[in-house]
Amino acid sequence: MPRPLPLFATLLLLALSLAAPAHAEGFITRLLNKPVPGGVAVLDLGGQAQAPKVRYQGKPVLTIREDGQRWIAIVGIPLGVKPGTQQVQIEGGQSLAFEVGAKHYTEQRITLKNQQQVNPNAKNLARIERELAEQTRAYRQFSARQPSNLLFDKPVDGPLSSPFGLRRFFNGEERNPHSGLDFAASRGTSIKAPAAGKVILIGDYFFNGRTVFLDHGQGLISMFCHLSAIDVKLGDEIPRGGHLGKVGATGRATGPHLHWNVSLNDARVDPAIFIGAFKP
Ligand SMILES: [Zn+2]
Repeated sequence: MPRPLPLFATLLLLALSLAAPAHAEGFITRLLNKPVPGGVAVLDLGGQAQAPKVRYQGKPVLTIREDGQRWIAIVGIPLGVKPGTQQVQIEGGQSLAFEVGAKHYTEQRITLKNQQQVNPNAKNLARIERELAEQTRAYRQFSARQPSNLLFDKPVDGPLSSPFGLRRFFNGEERNPHSGLDFAASRGTSIKAPAAGKVILIGDYFFNGRTVFLDHGQGLISMFCHLSAIDVKLGDEIPRGGHLGKVGATGRATGPHLHWNVSLNDARVDPAIFIGAFKP
């Protein structure tokens, strides 16, 4: 008769079997799966040969093979999505449900001397609308390339300052929540590509100032704002770690810093997730 396992070993085995998912979760799933508004859901699509085509809210979704085995979908969840059940559509008619949890985002109050940056006049509003349309088109691009890396490098050396998702009040008036992550860095600091990418848009915008968009592949797109100098051209292929430009304070900025957006399937998500700095 086999000796009974000591109690602690029994408890350990029980804990392991309760914690073990239907299949082993890979590194990318553990790192990126933060299913909250403004977060990312990583969904298991199975082990078939062909890449499944997945859509969320009508938009194509990034899919990769994790650890060379199962396909996973990496879904960006817009900040405006309410906690509860969401679905993606898989080509062929199937759908796959996932749960979005709650996340509390705090408030930030900012004082601006330039009242035009709080309540722009008609001419500036027309400009803002034009620029928004241009940037939205960039975010909706979906190239076939695979991202070089999903665990991103920090784009600048410097501490994180304003987090993603802050509810922002400019001179006491509520405006759009903070769509990216800010880094404190002095003017002229080099900004580097967090992953390889193609330059798909360059602009000098009313709110974002001098701006570069990088397409990392399959709808994973970065935006870098308020630059003092842009050192790349439209269409350039930038390697991981390649220099893009320099930190500045152009556009609506109270001082030099880098504002970095990360977008998946046209949803702006918390960049901190991709650098292992997400706070629940
Ligand atoms: Zn910012």
